Amino acid sequence: MVDQGVDVLLLSVGADLPYLTGYGAMPLERLTMLVLPRDGEAKLVIPELEASLVDVQPEFALHAWGETEDPLNIVDDMLGSASTVAIGDTTWARFLVGLIERNDERTFRNASDVMTPLRAVKTPDEIERLRAASHAVDRIAARLQAGEIPLVGQTEAQVSAELGRQILEEGHGKVNFAIVAAGENAASPHHHAGDRVIRENEGVLCDFGGTMFGDDGIGYCSDLTRCVYTGEPTAEFSEAYDVLFEAQAASVAAATVGTPAQDVDRAGREIISAAGYGEYFIHRTGHGIGVEAHEEPYIVEGNRDGLAAGNAFSVEPGIYVPGRFGMRIEDIVVAADEGPDPLNQVDHHLAVIN
Ligand code: ZN
Ligand code: ZN
Ligand code: ZN
Repeated sequence: MVDQGVDVLLLSVGADLPYLTGYGAMPLERLTMLVLPRDGEAKLVIPELEASLVDVQPEFALHAWGETEDPLNIVDDMLGSASTVAIGDTTWARFLVGLIERNDERTFRNASDVMTPLRAVKTPDEIERLRAASHAVDRIAARLQAGEIPLVGQTEAQVSAELGRQILEEGHGKVNFAIVAAGENAASPHHHAGDRVIRENEGVLCDFGGTMFGDDGIGYCSDLTRCVYTGEPTAEFSEAYDVLFEAQAASVAAATVGTPAQDVDRAGREIISAAGYGEYFIHRTGHGIGVEAHEEPYIVEGNRDGLAAGNAFSVEPGIYVPGRFGMRIEDIVVAADEGPDPLNQVDHHLAVIN
């Protein structure tokens, strides 16, 4: 905050508040807001009826507001003469508008100016939490590859529900997503698992993850993609998969400290393009991961920022041929001083399930 010239930080709905405190605001209409001055005591303005939910070791005072009070007046009072205020990027707009209506002298900025540099570089403890979450989904993927999760004859939605069940069973507190896309459906990278029945002799893409919470209430995310084939893969599928396999490994290997993020994207994209599939790789290579499933840094053309030791992000190139098939291989990788540290270890080959 000193570096950024911010007098007060305001955090409400979103991941910044639990990242700092272990307590997440209910994403409802009542205001919960941490008022964190650069100097002085932090206060959590919270609905009286939710105050008892704050069971974390508080490094802040609670200011509970009753049902007939206006919490924005309370926050406005606390802001006092502060002139530069950084407010959480995902705070409801009406709270920001309400604060501006009460005092239009203040300058508001995105709290990400303060929070992103903190969140994007993981501490060793955060990396171990991410590793634990990654290993949990690795065990699920290993069962998928071993044919221990029924596919043929099941709908995508049924398999998605089973992956979700296993995500919880493996110690996550929350399922964030479980994409299951069969055959031509896999050509849509964010396909919603539906009532399409999985058949023999087709590719099945599974991309799943959740949030694993520590005793302090702070949760870290997993995110893994593997593809399997329900029978002998066609030559067309195998050829594309070999290219993708090589491209994903090349991007992981490129993820060294100091390397511009876009170069990690380029390393894999060049291989996919050289093989003639460039037009079918329709998204960036990856996203940062931490208390949120998608956060900074983004592994995308145009991001020239060098990777910092402690950055954690996905490396997930894909090939999507509309109407035919799709495939993606995704690992979470940490840029470490010793080199790229892939948190996911489960086999990257195309598992053939008969
Ligand atoms: Zn995605
Ligand atoms: Zn994913
Ligand atoms: Zn991802």
